[in-house]
Amino acid sequence: MTYDPDNIFAKILRDEIPSTRVYEDDETLAFMDIMPRVDGHLLVIPKTPCRNLLDATPEQLSAVIATTQKLAKAAQKAMEAQGVTIQQFNEAAGGQEVFHLHFHVLPRHEGVKPRA
Ligand code: 5GP
Repeated sequence: MTYDPDNIFAKILRDEIPSTRVYEDDETLAFMDIMPRVDGHLLVIPKTPCRNLLDATPEQLSAVIATTQKLAKAAQKAMEAQGVTIQQFNEAAGGQEVFHLHFHVLPRHEGVKPRA
């Protein structure tokens, strides 16, 4: 499968469409999900082209996982959540809708189910 440089997250990286950025370093970017399934739902992506986990280099994975862990801890604290769910989907059959690697970070509170 190929990488489409005009996918939505590539446009967010290039600032061609707006997003609420919450974290950025040399290799990764995190921003709020436009349709949050829980309060504080954010997305972590690599800055370099990568379709999904199946397409990722060890360096991309390492960077995006490190940022995901950092933001999972920060989001849990900021949202006073009891836990955090990390989600990641690959290809349309696997539930992926935007074809640039991303990890969902969902702060979780006891008894609160994510919206569909
Ligand atoms: P997935 O590809 O993992 O199924 O989900 C893609 C996620 O990207 C969804 O949670 C969706 O709400 C989010 N999303 C889609 N378009 C945009 C957008 O333009 N801006 C932001 N911030 N999030 C988006």
